[in-house]
Amino acid sequence: MTTPIDVLVIGAGVAGLVAARECAQVGLSVTIIEATDAVGGPVAGHVLDGLSLDSGAESFAVRGGTVASFIEDLGLTDQVVAPNVAGAWLHLPALKPGSTADASVSVPLPKAGVLGIPGSPLADDVRRVIGWKGSLRAYGDRLMPVLTIGREHSLGDFVKKRMGARVLDRLVEPVASGVYTTSAVDLEIDVVAPGLNRALTTAGSLSGAVSALRAGAPAGSNVGGLLGGMACLPAAIVAALEHHNVTILTGTTAESLAHSGTDDAPTWAVAVTRREDADPADTLTARYVIVATQGAQALRLVNPLGAQFDALAELDWPAPTAVTLTSLVLDAPELDSHPRGTGVLVSVDAPDVTAKALTHVTAKWAWVAEAAGPGRHVVRLSYGRAGQPNPTDDLGDDELQALALHDASTLLGVSLPASSVRAFARTEWRDALSPATLGAPERAHQVREAVAATPRLEITGAWLAGTGLASVIPHALQAGDRIRHAALGLTITAADS
Ligand SMILES: Cc1cc2nc3c(=O)[nH]c(=O)nc-3n(C[C@H](O)[C@H](O)[C@H](O)COP(=O)(O)OP(=O)(O)OC[C@H]3O[C@@H](n4cnc5c(N)ncnc54)[C@H](O)[C@@H]3O)c2cc1C
Repeated sequence: MTTPIDVLVIGAGVAGLVAARECAQVGLSVTIIEATDAVGGPVAGHVLDGLSLDSGAESFAVRGGTVASFIEDLGLTDQVVAPNVAGAWLHLPALKPGSTADASVSVPLPKAGVLGIPGSPLADDVRRVIGWKGSLRAYGDRLMPVLTIGREHSLGDFVKKRMGARVLDRLVEPVASGVYTTSAVDLEIDVVAPGLNRALTTAGSLSGAVSALRAGAPAGSNVGGLLGGMACLPAAIVAALEHHNVTILTGTTAESLAHSGTDDAPTWAVAVTRREDADPADTLTARYVIVATQGAQALRLVNPLGAQFDALAELDWPAPTAVTLTSLVLDAPELDSHPRGTGVLVSVDAPDVTAKALTHVTAKWAWVAEAAGPGRHVVRLSYGRAGQPNPTDDLGDDELQALALHDASTLLGVSLPASSVRAFARTEWRDALSPATLGAPERAHQVREAVAATPRLEITGAWLAGTGLASVIPHALQAGDRIRHAALGLTITAADS
């Protein structure tokens, strides 16, 4: 019989890689299996027109400082960069009475807000977006009592109640959709705006709470990036894992997970299929398992493990959202002036654009602009909103390129002919699930309880931690830490006895 691996990690997204490193650093033998041919999940890159670009995640939230200290630990601190402070714009249906149904406007996103919620409802940049009527209605929030009993849950419902439909539709919804791919109505306040509920009780109004949160935030940009792209992050973790002799098996899918071994030496048996292997009945044995897949796959793997997991599959898990990213490299000197700051967030009601957001990559990141040189620009458009069919599903690449070019021209206010396109790429992210939806904390808590009742098992990943590296990395560090403590404890006991 072969000796079991100490720790088997299922899934080589950032969560799996981070948890694996925690275990490998203390000398445990670690193997990672990954169903696809690549590690890092949506933290990935591609080369387009000779430029190395991110094809998924392109930044990290600096809140909490965990990502920054993890990056420092990997020796990448010198590569950390801040984006252009110009900020993003909004693309919205026109408000003016008498404008036609298909008229739209582009305006800068007001500066002093949280997720689009204004801290100063009467400020000029807010009035420009929601008009006087909208600003006065939003100001009414300051005059309303705050209910201190119970907490608010739906971001959208709450914003509408306190500040009115214009703040919701024209400010908060485009930001929510751009960041979480989900309507603000379905987002859980405590997950997407931690501290807002508490600040509300203290400040006595929503706009007061927003101002308090902004005042308490550290100075500087609230996101960072990496010189060379975020794809450098998984590459650096893999280099560290190689240093610790961690085995990474790509093209290897975990099909099932079962208890094995003896009472004295319990193990897990993980049945795997390998893409290049004719034998589907391959089994890996490990003393500890960390499941770091997306939600549906994780639930399928753990469901047969015991009664504690039975109820989990019945919970109201959000359906995965498919996001299509299109990247265009353009010859467009007109874009040297960055006409829309770092990019544009699009209202779902905008009559003339299908994309939900555009990032002007060469305006946002100086290192990309430098690599591209004057007149050459990179723009990235994303398509797909939660709960709606992805509008690009039936489009061939040529049709998608034409749509992206049309949307980019409209959003940037610059004519971009087909001849300006130097390169085009389409990237599909099929499981871009938004775990920030209503009930997320309760669902994550139930999973945590079931896992806590299952020795030698951990589960981590964005579906439990919350979307984004600032949530995923700390969650994975904790999962890895619990396993390494348990494993070292067992090793010491065994050696002592
Ligand atoms: C388009 C896009 C842009 C984003 N932009 C940002 C951003 O700018 N900043 C930010 O902080 N976050 C961003 N995010 C979110 C962030 O990338 C994710 O939250 C994070 O990468 C999720 O990591 P994870 O390890 O939890 O999951 P994943 O990366 O999805 O990893 C799960 C892995 O498990 C593998 N797997 C599944 N089933 C099995 C199985 N049975 N056996 C073996 N392997 C399996 C999968 O193939 C996958 O590689 C973005 C996400 C998307 C989709």
